[in-house]
Amino acid sequence: MERRTSRPGGPSNAQRSTEGLALLPGITAATARRLAAAGVRDLEGLLWRLPFRYEDRRRPSRLGAAKPGTVACFRARIAAIHPRRSFRGGVHVTEAIVQDDSGSLHAVWFNQPWLSKSLPAGTEVFLYGKVGLYSVRGGLRLQLENPEVEKAADGPDQALLSDRLVPVYRREGEVHPRTLRRIFMGLLLDKGSVEIQEILPGDLFREESLLPRADAFRTAHFPPAPGEGVPVGPPPEAHKRLAFEELLRFQWSLALVRRDRDLKPGPVIAPSPDAGDLLRRVLPFRLTGAQRRVLREVFEDLASPRPMYRLLHGDVGSGKTVVAFLAMIFAAHKGLQAAFMAPTEVLARQQYLKLEAMLDGTGLRAAFLTSGVKGKGRKEILAQVAAGNIQILVGTQSLFQEHVTYRELGLVVIDEQHRFGVLQRAHLVEKGRRPNVLVMTATPIPRSLALTLYGDLDLSVLDEMPPGRSPVVTAIREEGARRKAEAFMRKEMDAGRQVFVVFPLVEESEALDLQAASEAFKRLSTGAFRGYPSALLHGRMRPEEKESVMARVRSGEVRLLVATTVVEVGVDLPGASVMVVEHAERFGLAQLHQLRGRVGRGGQKGYCVLMVSPAAAPESIERLRVLERTQDGFEIAEADLRLRGGGDLAGVRQWGGAGFRVADPVRDHDTLVRARLWAARLSDPGRKWGTGERERYLEWLERSGVFSSGLAQIG
Ligand code: ADP
Ligand code: MG
Repeated sequence: MERRTSRPGGPSNAQRSTEGLALLPGITAATARRLAAAGVRDLEGLLWRLPFRYEDRRRPSRLGAAKPGTVACFRARIAAIHPRRSFRGGVHVTEAIVQDDSGSLHAVWFNQPWLSKSLPAGTEVFLYGKVGLYSVRGGLRLQLENPEVEKAADGPDQALLSDRLVPVYRREGEVHPRTLRRIFMGLLLDKGSVEIQEILPGDLFREESLLPRADAFRTAHFPPAPGEGVPVGPPPEAHKRLAFEELLRFQWSLALVRRDRDLKPGPVIAPSPDAGDLLRRVLPFRLTGAQRRVLREVFEDLASPRPMYRLLHGDVGSGKTVVAFLAMIFAAHKGLQAAFMAPTEVLARQQYLKLEAMLDGTGLRAAFLTSGVKGKGRKEILAQVAAGNIQILVGTQSLFQEHVTYRELGLVVIDEQHRFGVLQRAHLVEKGRRPNVLVMTATPIPRSLALTLYGDLDLSVLDEMPPGRSPVVTAIREEGARRKAEAFMRKEMDAGRQVFVVFPLVEESEALDLQAASEAFKRLSTGAFRGYPSALLHGRMRPEEKESVMARVRSGEVRLLVATTVVEVGVDLPGASVMVVEHAERFGLAQLHQLRGRVGRGGQKGYCVLMVSPAAAPESIERLRVLERTQDGFEIAEADLRLRGGGDLAGVRQWGGAGFRVADPVRDHDTLVRARLWAARLSDPGRKWGTGERERYLEWLERSGVFSSGLAQIG
């Protein structure tokens, strides 16, 4: 027997029993509840919440030696601090002087007016950020621009955190990044830390010479720090190990999906003349050539006993939803049920309203179901669905939770990415017949990559825009051009159109985002856009609140919508003509491309203004030029891919819905190929497993912390 810190041999009982995070050391019941609300339900889910960068606190830089253009960490004392308003554009500025025994520096924060209260003079802090060079009254001065700042509290935590690479986490729902850091210190660094067992099959583990799981997680969260410099990601061996695991899970699940669909028949939905008549009747316009082609592909799948597993790919506005609706109406007409799952309530409701309009006069019945639908109304819907009187359900994840029983579910449509877990669960939970599954995504993914990654799924592409859609005119603008941009927005609103202003979501601190957006909203609605009906939409609103804002936007009552939640802006508002993105440099190109696809959809011209902040690096502005040049989603995806350098640990990992946390199918291509090979071996029916071993793995695949869809079952 080899000596290892942990042994291969399948997920252990201990791991599976860590249901309650509250049982783990250092996690209170309240924190466990908040984590669960953010989708982190067990140790497994928690471990994958890796830091998105590290901060080097081994030797904090000395203020006296700060060099312009470098990013550094300092330990210093706030000597003076005060808020003020900038002359240009009314931005809130907090200015401070920070001091250590080697010297002092100016620090400046934008739009965080509360800092002067939370960090009064005398506070000891860690500061992390870029040292800039500013000209002030003829002279030059060094200044920290928007540095991250954290109180340097005394105590045992601080000791553990002051002489190492310190992980920086993203916020998880209500759980603060620093709380996560404390939790991980307890789980991975303390003497009594949790035991993390190996889970990969022994032969694979040995042949691939992977780092043991426990070591991989420990060093990914708290990397050893030899030499100079701060790593941009987990140590290479840890990265490889974790990426392998993610890619294997994904590929293995897909391989099982494929085998499964070959073995077990699903419902057959065959075309007929009356169905054709119906579809022509409900369709409000002529389909594009691409839509007709994709619809044919979908209908062939439906007519075959082999269940459909199709990924439908197409830019925002290419008409995916319409294709899906036709397929659903077709299934419903043939006596089967169809479910349409959107990523958020707002989007679900929007789709529901569109579908309702199409169903008019067909005799088919649809219902809207989310966790917000409660009480008698909910009971009634559930009963009608179970009886088969409601044929089409539109909603969020809750379509597949909480005792929703379908009489005969024939088609599941999943709108937008991040939901591949559904596929896994659809297969691994052996219940009912296999429904047809159509996943729609607008995340452009280069074709070659799609083939390697999704080789087991069928792929349809909508590569043609509906007629009458002109390109969205896109322009990058700096702070100095704000007045002009605002004048343009007023002009558009005066002409009866709607305008969006979007703020980025910096996951590290939702509170800060909200604060920035609320203030901007106040500023805009009382300043440049006084008298224009305006509304604010943000991620912390309750679903009803969001919905009431959206209803006012849809009705045209609201002209100016300020929003922090990017996904919610994924709504289809034919009256909108201008999309202004604040701090555009913080968004990925593909994401910006999706955002701008939301305006100019009702025949009017669309405009997208990318506002870059004064603190933005020139490279990150340059990167945005691609959007000025092209409207081709694939070209933008390729550019995103090329430009994505080090420094962004989180990267864009949402490749067409795979939702990897560590793996990057492009950079980890070799690992992807190995994982694919093993996925084929492991799903080979001839493979020998120990007693109960295979079942344990199936369970592991199903309850993955990686593909956190939260779906209990389909079908
Ligand atoms: P996607 O889901 O790909 O973002 P949608 O299906 O929501 O796109 O379509 C975007 C808009 O274009 C909708 O308002 C829809 O009614 C309209 N549309 C879709 N297909 C066509 C078509 N063939 N002709 C005209 N308008 C269309
Ligand atoms: Mg859509």
